[in-house]
Amino acid sequence: MSEVLVDGHGRRITDLRVSVTDLCNLRCRYCLTPGDIEWLPRGQILRFEEIETVVRALVRLGVRDVRLTGGEPLVRKDLPALARMIARIDGIEDLSLTTNGLLLERDAEALVAAGIRRFNVSLDALSPARFAEVTRRDAVGRVLRGLDALSRQPGVGEIKVNAVATRGVTEHEIPAFVRFARSNPFQVRFIEQMPLGAHRDWTAADVLTGGEIVAMIHAIHPVEEVPREAHATARVYRFADGLGEVGFVNPVSQPFCDDCNRIRLTADGALRTCLFSHDETDLRGPLRDGAAPDDLARIIRDAVWRKELKHRVGDEGFRQPERTMSRIGG
Ligand code: SAM
Repeated sequence: MSEVLVDGHGRRITDLRVSVTDLCNLRCRYCLTPGDIEWLPRGQILRFEEIETVVRALVRLGVRDVRLTGGEPLVRKDLPALARMIARIDGIEDLSLTTNGLLLERDAEALVAAGIRRFNVSLDALSPARFAEVTRRDAVGRVLRGLDALSRQPGVGEIKVNAVATRGVTEHEIPAFVRFARSNPFQVRFIEQMPLGAHRDWTAADVLTGGEIVAMIHAIHPVEEVPREAHATARVYRFADGLGEVGFVNPVSQPFCDDCNRIRLTADGALRTCLFSHDETDLRGPLRDGAAPDDLARIIRDAVWRKELKHRVGDEGFRQPERTMSRIGG
């Protein structure tokens, strides 16, 4: 019988995001700086076997869903091998991946064959010029080819396309995203920009809220809200004529901490209980020191117990965490 992992606020933790690298092949303006970036030293990055050990420990404690992320997970050599190792762990119900899609054309087949069923592909703009402006790389065609390759894989499950919404940029993309969502089998989701970038210059004014985007979309094609599933990060709307869906992840304007069931493992082996945690728990040290499974389980349970009640974005005195998004794993 598996155990139940709960935090000190009574929330059951079942969802783990595993970052496999802090490296990324894009330089999105809200996330990374364009110049020299201090990447984590290689020796600090968990090896596949170490990741597997931590995931096994967490699954024994009650985790059911695992999402691989980064940095950009597909720049980690032989990611499908890690996916296979995780997919075969007894007790995992869902293995998914978040990627920017640049390497998807190369890897789609191997990833699906390895046991990944659900995919989130980040795509901030459909216009080549705006995509290049946001990501600092002229690569929207590659992402679209990756999506196409992925959607043609036999056995692939749900594919979501995620756009970070930035005021002054995303408004111009809405009509194209509406057409895209209505003509493809992908749920297009808009994510409010959060204060997690390397520039540390986020202001609330940068956030184009989900509410504002719903109104813009509704004016183009009427949409109706679908009841929210427990623990869901997104509010989902379907087009009233039944053709396609859009989702809104609104961590800033409509936080969903109340039933948060997520924790994160960083590429260098820290357990984080909130995107905005100021404290994190090192698992790599105990792991490399040969901690017994029971000791690792105790460290994890204690850390989870201290999970933050909520993030404080927008509150007076909010401080951005030391780690930026690319080093946490989104
Ligand atoms: N590289 C992969 C990708 O692009 O999907 C996985 C990691 S990335 C950190 C995961 C998601 O977080 C991407 O959709 C990215 O755009 C988003 N993201 C990065 N910084 C963000 C921020 N400050 N606020 C909101 N979303 C952010």
